[in-house]
This record gives sequence, structure tokens and C-alpha cells, in this order.
Amino acid sequence: MSIENPILRIEGRIAEIGKGMKIARMIPNRLRRTIGAWCFLDHAGPVNFLAGEGMNVGPHPHIGLQTFTWMIEGQVRHIDSLGNSQMIYPNQVNLMTAGRGISHAEVSPTDKASTLHAAQLWIALEDSHRHIEPQFQNYPDLPMVDTECFHATVLVGNSLGVTSPVSVFTPLVAVDLVAKQTSTFELELDPNFEHGITLLEGEATVDGESLEAGTLLYFATGHSRVTISGHAAARILVIGGEPFKEDILLWWNFVARTQEELEQARRDWAMETPRFGVITDQRAGNRLDAPSLEGLHLKAGRPTN
Ligand code: MN
Repeated sequence: MSIENPILRIEGRIAEIGKGMKIARMIPNRLRRTIGAWCFLDHAGPVNFLAGEGMNVGPHPHIGLQTFTWMIEGQVRHIDSLGNSQMIYPNQVNLMTAGRGISHAEVSPTDKASTLHAAQLWIALEDSHRHIEPQFQNYPDLPMVDTECFHATVLVGNSLGVTSPVSVFTPLVAVDLVAKQTSTFELELDPNFEHGITLLEGEATVDGESLEAGTLLYFATGHSRVTISGHAAARILVIGGEPFKEDILLWWNFVARTQEELEQARRDWAMETPRFGVITDQRAGNRLDAPSLEGLHLKAGRPTN
């Protein structure tokens, strides 16, 4: 570790989303608010649900960001105000671009017992794209790379010689790595990017630093590779991007630049103006209320997901 290229250890906080579903939130954190344009990282599960239970996050709004779901185990239905109703399955990404405003719900099927394991992230949109029309895409086929040591899926950007089709607006990368056997391997990094590396399953070390579930190692720009040692079946998520150049305000489910924008978005949701559309699918459940404005002066509200 050098002063120029520090590695920070970020301890995630345990938070609860929907009803009774605990997650580890790695960013935003007081040590790092963003990693590239990545401005939010939740590791959800693995959690076992009985029949009748599951993830159940009712309709809520977003602005100024993309929501990004990487499904490892289980199924969740995304329902949005554009009329999309999309089940996401393991090894798929759901990407919702909120732009000027969208609302959505995320609901697990509850007909039988299930396990849910996922990473949910947000990507801040830069000023030139944050007011665009909302859109949603499911990506069922992501590029994979197999070596003797690991199985990799490139979720965003370029890595390991392949390019993800997931559509983002600033230079970003995300790679899911699963060790096939207890082994040590190098992963090349773009030295223009800052990176975050977290453990999703098993045991691993990165550049000799132990990695634990619920923690994230932050690598500043200037690192061109990391050495990962993983036990068999260890699963590691690497995210990165060019440091985000704009100051953002993140409150509840909104990414904005000014308090007035946040207040307007809150008002538009509360007043049910056309901005966030209407979700007609009854499976979405009851719409969520925005938290009180009192917390709005804080940069971090309590995001729904
Ligand atoms: Mn959401």
C-alpha cells in the first residue's frame, strides 16, 4: 500500500430492505461515497425464504441513476411504470435507467421456499444523461471467461478480453469471479479506474488483504492488477470506474445535484404527478411513502433499493 494508491477497508452496514430482508451495504460509506459512477452497493443474502416469504419491495420512484441487479441465486420480478414485468433469473442482469423519473417494484415469487442471493447496485448518471427518458433492459446472456482457476462473468465494461453488452454512460467495469479450485490468480485492472472488491461467498484474499463477506476493499486509481487467492467456490465481485467528476446528492432513491431537485422529486411522488408513471400490475403491492423531509439535509437517506 502506498500513499499514492491507497487501499481502504470498508465495512458494510447491515440494513433492512422491504420486510425482513437484511443486506450488507458497502457504499455509500463515510470512507467512499462512489467508486467510479457506482454510488450504491448492497449485497443481499444468501437468505432462505419459506413458502409465502420473499423479497417484497413495493412501488417506489428513482431519478438520476441506473439500478443494476446481478442475480446469483433465486428469482425476483421487476415491475415498472413503463409496463415492464420481467423476472430476473440467476446469471442475469436487470438494468433500469431512471433518467428523469421512473417507478418500480421488486417482488419474489412466493409459491414455494426459495433462496435469494444478489448484488444490487446504483450507477449515478452524469449531468448530460440524468434527465433522459427512463428505460429498462434484462440481459440474459453475459460474456463468460473460463480459466483453469476461475469462472468469470463480465457484467459491465471490458475485462479478460471480452465486453459486456450492459449499457452504461460512463467508463465502468464489473466482473463476477468464482474460484474453481483453491488457487491464486491475477486480474488486470485499468489503472485509470478506481475499484472496489467484495466477497460474495467463501474465503479469499486480495493482494494479501483478507476479504470478508460484508466488507469491501477500495483500490484508488493507479493499480494495474490485483492478485486474488480464493478457496474453491469463493465468489468475488470487482467493480470499478473512472472517478466520478460531479458532486452528487443521494437521498432515499434519488440521485440529484441540489436539495430543490430532491424536494421536487419527493413532492412529485407524494402528489402522484405523471412524472413517475403508474404501475398497474397488482403483483407490485402497495406504493412506498418517501421518508420525511427532515432527513433531507443529510446526504444519505435510507434507500429502498
Ligand atoms: Mn428501486
